[in-house]
Amino acid sequence: MTAPFARLSDDDLATCVHCGLCLDACPTFRVTGLETESPRGRIYLMTQWKRGTMPFDEEQVKHIDLCLGCRTCEGVCPSGVPYGRIIEAGRADVEDVRRPSPKRAGSRIALRQLVGHPGRLRLAGAAARAAQRLGLTSVARSGRMLPRLQSQFRRPPGDVAHARGEARYRVAFLVGCVMPILYPQSHEAAVRLLQLAGCDVWFPAGERCCGALFAHNGDLKGAARLREANMRVYSAGKFDALVVDSAGCGAHLKDFYPDLKGRVKDLTELLAEVGLPEPEGKLNLRVTYQDACHLAHAQRIKKQPRDLIRSIQGVNYIEMRHAEMCCGAAGLYSTLEPEMSNRILEEKLDDVMATGADVVTVANPGCQMQLEAGLRSRGSAMRVEHVAETLLRAY
Ligand code: SF4
Ligand code: SF4
Repeated sequence: MTAPFARLSDDDLATCVHCGLCLDACPTFRVTGLETESPRGRIYLMTQWKRGTMPFDEEQVKHIDLCLGCRTCEGVCPSGVPYGRIIEAGRADVEDVRRPSPKRAGSRIALRQLVGHPGRLRLAGAAARAAQRLGLTSVARSGRMLPRLQSQFRRPPGDVAHARGEARYRVAFLVGCVMPILYPQSHEAAVRLLQLAGCDVWFPAGERCCGALFAHNGDLKGAARLREANMRVYSAGKFDALVVDSAGCGAHLKDFYPDLKGRVKDLTELLAEVGLPEPEGKLNLRVTYQDACHLAHAQRIKKQPRDLIRSIQGVNYIEMRHAEMCCGAAGLYSTLEPEMSNRILEEKLDDVMATGADVVTVANPGCQMQLEAGLRSRGSAMRVEHVAETLLRAY
């Protein structure tokens, strides 16, 4: 039997010099003011558990559970602490020793039995859409969070969408698990933009969920199984880049798929590299942008989405206060830790609404769902849409 906390690396934990410079950037520390809800406090706790200098305590696990995994701390840490890797390993280690919690066990079953299987997920999406039409989804909180479900995203015939004009690149496109069900319009806009940018877009048949939700919730074994399945699919085709329009998936693919090193690109990253034709249209729109944590902090991509939005004629771009601060969505976090998620969301909504924008653009489905639900609850008419949708309006 392996020793407890064997996945956590001593070398990774030792990179923290306890300077505290990450504290004010951490959303859970900002809300609570507690050291135990800070990156430094969590690293300290995990270090003691690993060394065996502090007994594992079920009560203290809640400090690990309350981490959003947003990696804002990683972005501001002067010591290069690989916090994303630490929290993923720490969560997987904690799952081995903690008392089973019905909520967490339920989320693991849902991930393994539903999210990891595209066919089952599509059926569940169709059932949720029918329930929504009958007004049945407003009963549960998770149902109320859902966007208005439309027809699910469909791959083109032959699994390729051809470039408009001469094809300069061949890219693979990650369809993913929940995005084609929750936000098919984001995928459709992303693919149209890639075609305009001279890309043949290939949709690898048999591709499954990338595993990001699994890894973020301490199921590294489940994530590894999905990686193996996906790598068999990707190895069967040739492509210059694997394009991802969901920040959480992009960050996971960059970290967790070493065989794709250098070829995983966020949509905005790729479009900024290859260039789009001059937009034909002119908009009359006030637009702001909410950084996705896994784009801004994990992938360090902040400039490209902003530059692309600003490049549209007639867009009045308004920078949001604390745009880089998490909205509280964080994958399954809003379901598992609704109280903290809501406290973080309330601050975010103040900042979003203070911009007075018509549209708040996002780069991740979790952020979109969280902000839509929050703005609805405040009776705001502000629209939330993926950066790709806003960009496509100009063509
Ligand atoms: S994680 Fe980085 S910024 Fe935070 S206390 Fe440790 S060394 Fe300092
Ligand atoms: S990942 Fe986010 S919530 Fe977790 S410690 Fe870092 S900044 Fe705080």
